[in-house]
Amino acid sequence: MAATDQTPGNIPNDDAEIAHALEDASIPCLMMSMIHMSGDCSLMDGPIRPQGVFINEYQGFLDEDSKATIRRQALEVIKRFRDNGCVLPPPPSTATIHRMMEFLVAQEVPAAYVPMLLEEMELDGEDLRTDNWNEQISASARKDFKVIVIGGGVSGVLAAIRLAEAGIPYVVIEKNASVGGTWFENRYPGARVDVANHLYCYSFEPAHHWSQYFSRQPELQRYFEDCIDKYEIRDNFRFETEVVGASYDENCGQWQTTIRNSDGSEETLTSNALISAVGQLNRPSIPDIKGAESFSGAAFHSAQWDSSVSVAGKKVAVIGSGASAFQLVPELAAEAAELTVFQRTANWMFENPIYHEQVSAGKKWCLQHLPFYTRWFRFLIFWPAIDGAYDVAVVDPNWPHQDRSINEANEFTREMFTDYIRGQLGEDSELLDKVIPDYPPMGKRTLQDNGTWLKALQRDNVELISEAVIEIGEHTVTSESGTTFDADIIIYATGFKANKFLWPMNIRGCNDVALADQWGNEPAAYLGITVPNFPNFFLCYGPGTNLAFGGSIIFNIECQVRYVMEGIKALLETGHTSVACKPDVFEDYHRRFRAQHAQMIWEHPSIKHSFYTNEEGKCTLLWPWKILQMWEWTREFDRNDYHFTDNA
Ligand code: NAP
Repeated sequence: MAATDQTPGNIPNDDAEIAHALEDASIPCLMMSMIHMSGDCSLMDGPIRPQGVFINEYQGFLDEDSKATIRRQALEVIKRFRDNGCVLPPPPSTATIHRMMEFLVAQEVPAAYVPMLLEEMELDGEDLRTDNWNEQISASARKDFKVIVIGGGVSGVLAAIRLAEAGIPYVVIEKNASVGGTWFENRYPGARVDVANHLYCYSFEPAHHWSQYFSRQPELQRYFEDCIDKYEIRDNFRFETEVVGASYDENCGQWQTTIRNSDGSEETLTSNALISAVGQLNRPSIPDIKGAESFSGAAFHSAQWDSSVSVAGKKVAVIGSGASAFQLVPELAAEAAELTVFQRTANWMFENPIYHEQVSAGKKWCLQHLPFYTRWFRFLIFWPAIDGAYDVAVVDPNWPHQDRSINEANEFTREMFTDYIRGQLGEDSELLDKVIPDYPPMGKRTLQDNGTWLKALQRDNVELISEAVIEIGEHTVTSESGTTFDADIIIYATGFKANKFLWPMNIRGCNDVALADQWGNEPAAYLGITVPNFPNFFLCYGPGTNLAFGGSIIFNIECQVRYVMEGIKALLETGHTSVACKPDVFEDYHRRFRAQHAQMIWEHPSIKHSFYTNEEGKCTLLWPWKILQMWEWTREFDRNDYHFTDNA
């Protein structure tokens, strides 16, 4: 089992070093660590207490005097702890931890969330999302059960770790040359994560090493490399190998998966279960624009970055203004002679002052040395991102201003986001009309900003054209109004074929039914994980599991992979050969899924273009419930939801 970074000890003898590091500490997290070290909860009765919580705010809105007082007190607690041999007092009770949670975030933490948070924090050092199978399932049963995982990204690596822990033979088929998925592919300048990294990493892995709060792509990709080396599972990955298709053989209850090697040769692998870990955003989408093939310069998608092409001194056209363009444009603007950004729809953004900030040495020291500090830091990031913003995305049908917002909280959010944009540009800027979105906030992905996007758009060499592109010529790009712009290079920051789950693979289930045909325009799975007619087939980060109001996809994936493992375990325990979701269970779930989405913002008529929805405007990608539900509903694999059969 993996060890998180909460083990006490290793406090240096140099008091000055400690005091220096504490200058950078998150004081609320430091207070929690002090309670663990001293066992003294009276700190929570004192006058100094965090005043509130907000996303990316790690000091609880404490004033400087209060922070200095806590630092002084902390130094004494740490010295005592060290000088007594770093022996922890008995751990706080669950009731005390709940109190600590509420103290830290200065608000109620409903009791229903506490078990989920305790699991995420692993304060007792136990990774509850894995399971020791040794005692329950014989070694031979495990050895004979084979699994193929499609994709070695965030979920594929996790599935591999869990399968290895369970002692199940498996192979991960990955089309790229290494692991990381989205973090392997998206190498465009400026690519970085936008969920804080101390949360955006596996819950059971140490998190004190991140160099930035929102690290850049190479560091993220390295993280997944390090994981497969640490767990000694690299040999289970077949890189530069692509799954062409897979079909379920009802006669023997096995999957036959056709793979294509890098030399073009194909072979068929047999397994008892098939796990798709291909995610949602891995097949670039390039719009079909008239004349695009006639363009004479370099033209490529943001996720297929051509590093041999230099933009220095060139006229560059960026088509699209979503999350990728948002990170890319400021970087290109500094190098290109002229940069034209074609924006079909403006984005809502919120301020994140630490978006590009380094984690200071003192902060890293606290994360590494202070008992449980990292775990509380994870909680501090997670809590405001969990379900706090959910209601902002629920449509109030009686709200009178449906063209601009969908409920009162949404209107407030609109004002807050608008103020942020206005504050940067000033009231007279002609950019204002172009960059303030005309749809309610949260309707599309909300972007994080530290000012770089609007600064880039205000540069003399940058022009924002708030029109779609309708035509491309040999050296030109033409926008909807018929205006033509010169371009030497075109970058398509136009997103992914998100609604085409598992495309272009040919996955066939019972009665040779193709998954693509069963799904049609509306990919769907029970809990986003299992599909009727497709026994022993599991999806991670599948339809209806993405997040657009908060959270972290890694949390969702950890929930899903646990569920998948429980499904496999159920199969082995019962001794049957196949397990498939009951059609009526799926239908009931899907009906509730649709009903919930009908109340959410992502299908709202004011949202014109969105990759969250299919051609009929139905949202197939996102989880429409609270994050708590994802955890509750995937916590146990309810065998009553499934048909178990014997094929052989
Ligand atoms: P995206 O959000 O789908 O943005 C695509 C952009 O291309 C949009 O501005 C879209 O305009 C435009 N576009 C698409 N088709 C077009 C057409 N035919 N003509 C003109 N414009 C067109 O794609 P993305 O920026 O690559 O981001 C996709 C997702 O990847 C994000 O939502 C996020 O989940 C993930 N991502 C995450 C990060 C991060 O964590 N840091 C960074 C990048 C991406 P419309 O808005 O009008 O459709």
